[in-house]
Amino acid sequence: MPDQATPAERLNTISEQGLCIGCGLCQSVAGPDRIQVMKNQEGNLRPVITGELDDLIVDQIYDVCPGTHVQGMPSSLIDRDTKMDNVWGPWRRVVRAWAADPEIRFEGATGGVLTALASYLLSTERVSFVLHTKTSAKEPAFGERHLSFNQADVFEAASSRYGPTATLIDINDILDRGESFAFIGKPCDIGALRNHGRYDSRVQELVKYWLAPVCGGFMPTPSRIDTLRRFGVEPEDLTGLRYRGRGCPGPIRIETREEHRDIHYLDFWGEDSSQWSLPFRCKICPDGIGESADLAVADSWPGGSPNRIDSETDPGTNAVIVRTQAGMGLVEVAAKDGALTIEYDQTPDDMSYYQMHQMRKKYAVWPRLQGLADEGHIMPRYEGLRLQELAADLPDETNDHQRQGARRRVREGKVGEPTPRPGE
Ligand SMILES: Cc1cc2nc3c(=O)[nH]c(=O)nc-3n(C[C@H](O)[C@H](O)[C@H](O)COP(=O)(O)OP(=O)(O)OC[C@H]3O[C@@H](n4cnc5c(N)ncnc54)[C@H](O)[C@@H]3O)c2cc1C
Ligand code: SF4
Ligand code: SF4
Repeated sequence: MPDQATPAERLNTISEQGLCIGCGLCQSVAGPDRIQVMKNQEGNLRPVITGELDDLIVDQIYDVCPGTHVQGMPSSLIDRDTKMDNVWGPWRRVVRAWAADPEIRFEGATGGVLTALASYLLSTERVSFVLHTKTSAKEPAFGERHLSFNQADVFEAASSRYGPTATLIDINDILDRGESFAFIGKPCDIGALRNHGRYDSRVQELVKYWLAPVCGGFMPTPSRIDTLRRFGVEPEDLTGLRYRGRGCPGPIRIETREEHRDIHYLDFWGEDSSQWSLPFRCKICPDGIGESADLAVADSWPGGSPNRIDSETDPGTNAVIVRTQAGMGLVEVAAKDGALTIEYDQTPDDMSYYQMHQMRKKYAVWPRLQGLADEGHIMPRYEGLRLQELAADLPDETNDHQRQGARRRVREGKVGEPTPRPGE
């Protein structure tokens, strides 16, 4: 970025260098009269400038945006009962679990743990509402931010959405309600809201529980369009896309006005998870594992992908990393009151067995960042995540391979995106 870049150029650089994940927070920070996070010309959610920006507001955006700044668990939430794993971060307990209610377990992405906990928090009046996401009413492949006040609302939001989702697009309006709530968001959403909390003390006061699905990323819009075309569906004909749930992972249901089609998860994504198409930001994600959440909830498939035969009958079992006192309190009371079934305790090593892709990425992030810096790109500030320590455990050749790979991607134009303009 040139030294004399204007505030607008600085804001656009986040998207142009592939760091924006479309969380919506910059719209809340600057206001919709200056920035609107909307569908851009490539069909992804990106911030489009709609008014005058100044350096002060862009500085704040750089500090809270999950593309440019991620911190681990706030030190105030780490105490002597917290154990620390270099890959998996702070933890107190790791368990295999599922929603005790069979309907929730069936409907949920994996074993319905997040839906069960959201439901439990509302029914026991521990919070007034839950901020999370459901399928977008306008864009069937996208998610949209959703507030749940009762079990029916929570149920509507069950399952994972592997499409663009601006969870924080109106977080200031939500904080203006002045009511306590639980936040369920991807790890980047959680990190962004934690960042925002350093500017707005209402975040600390009102967000009582922070719950995250472990996240390896989602499919960018151009790849999703190609994938749907493989199944004979043009983007304008799509009326519904259910990515997961109704089993584990459950069928991917593609709907048009005329028909619906159920396909296997692996036929949609591809058999080899290392080849899955992801936004660049996800390839350098330092925290797909929800390090600053009270608890993070994952799949428990050995190796990270479902197996075709087992997935026909898999009822869904989550692996849950419980990180804070609040998370421990919630899991234990929800299990005692019959909302959650805990099968048995595990360790971070089991997480690495279930989530090899997360472990590999965590080791690779630091040299990838150095490759970006070598090419004059923004080097995001990733703090409290032990990335340099992990890289130090790798042979020099491996670090160099990752670093050079990132440099090559930049030079080949695989990282960059166009300056965001409104899409159709
Ligand atoms: C983009 C993405 C990538 C993922 N990658 C991995 C992975 O690498 N490894 C792994 O183990 N698991 C991954 N998952 C998580 C997995 O699919 C399950 O969501 C997780 O195991 C929780 O299961 P559950 O049955 O408890 O969820 P459910 O009970 O179905 O609840 C899911 C909750 O997540 C919220 N949610 C769904 N989609 C989004 C979204 N896009 N943004 C914000 N919130 C959302 C919903 O509102 C709901 O509250 C991913 C999920 C997503 C959304
Ligand atoms: S990641 Fe979020 S805060 Fe950062 S530029 Fe994108 S929409 Fe804005
Ligand atoms: S991989 Fe990281 S950046 Fe990408 S969606 Fe998941 S948490 Fe966000």
